[in-house]
Amino acid sequence: MELFQQMAEMGHERVLFCSSPEVGLQAIIAVHSTILGPGLGGVRMWPYGSTEEALTDVLRLSRGMTYKAAAAGLNLGGGKAVILGDPKKDKSEALFRAFGRYVESLNGLYITAEDVGTNMDDMEAILSETRWVTGVSPSSGGSGDPSSVTAFGVLQGMKAAVEHLFGDGASLAGRTVAIQGLGNVGYHLSSYLKKEKAAKIFAADIDPDRCARVRDEFGVEIVPVGEILAVDCDIVAPCALGAVLNERTIPALRCKIVAGAANNQLADEERDGRALHERGILYAPDFVGNAGGLINVYNELAGYNRGRAMQMARGIYANMARVFQISRAEQIPTYRAADRVAEERIRRIQGMRAQHWTRAIRQTRNHS
Ligand code: NAD
Repeated sequence: MELFQQMAEMGHERVLFCSSPEVGLQAIIAVHSTILGPGLGGVRMWPYGSTEEALTDVLRLSRGMTYKAAAAGLNLGGGKAVILGDPKKDKSEALFRAFGRYVESLNGLYITAEDVGTNMDDMEAILSETRWVTGVSPSSGGSGDPSSVTAFGVLQGMKAAVEHLFGDGASLAGRTVAIQGLGNVGYHLSSYLKKEKAAKIFAADIDPDRCARVRDEFGVEIVPVGEILAVDCDIVAPCALGAVLNERTIPALRCKIVAGAANNQLADEERDGRALHERGILYAPDFVGNAGGLINVYNELAGYNRGRAMQMARGIYANMARVFQISRAEQIPTYRAADRVAEERIRRIQGMRAQHWTRAIRQTRNHS
């Protein structure tokens, strides 16, 4: 599809192609929306097969950030960047500094952060060129590893789901949970669930060391990787990969709630979001539940404070509860209700701004 047509259909404001051949940089920065605030989103480094593939990814991801920030109630728009290259071979300080200069050229419309293929050291190199970067080291005012805040936010989404379904005070005590993926988020989630006195935690990971760790520390029962989504339990928490809720896995689910951290859990939003709704399984939309990571870096903008970040992540409970209420009241799948929450907030602020400008123009005319 022609680029301007694609931008218009998806609602993007700007797309910046960045080329610095002297340091091997090819990157694309997409600013989807700045209606609620600057577009904050990570920079992904990936060996894309083609420019088209990289463009499709950055357009889709930046749009997703607009929705995530809007639903979380943050004063942020949506943006994302991709660097075309292999993070194992093509990284250099010069490349990230060159990227930083492109970020700087947008003068705060886009704020970058870590993503797949980039890390805190890369953010430090970017920081040499621009202050519009988050996820830097704590010694540079950064927030460090976000995964415990993310896990805490996922926990809030689970509590909202339990309250919505069972109405017994949002307690996870006595509930059974199956966690897919015991990486950074899955580990912290196991710890929180143990503190909440969940009756039983099942989990699976392809890495046996990660399994052994949660088994020994929190008494988690390890099940085979291929069986975790079909465990008979209250809540399934996908915390590994995207697209795990699909035509094959949804019919096999034996849980009442799906609430996890992984991004893009629905392989096909429409088809699989509807399938869960029709099966009567309450799906806690991923971008509402996993906003803790974004909340964490957002807090760097005003001077990082862990307590404030955790307090804001607690707000995911109310955000999720509102999504469930809309879904119930309007008999629509939760993924649609979550989109609606985000879209309505953006529309309200856009309308407010339009009114503000109309008033300002009228006043100028009246005075001239
Ligand atoms: P991670 O890489 O630390 O952990 C992922 C884990 O999943 C690894 O232990 C890996 O071995 C395991 N895994 C991979 N394939 C698997 C499979 N088929 N079955 C079972 N386990 C498998 O990542 P993370 O930081 O814990 O993030 C988990 C998910 O949450 C990702 O999708 C990520 O995009 C999303 N997310 C993370 C954050 C954050 O703050 N870290 C924020 C928002 C969203």
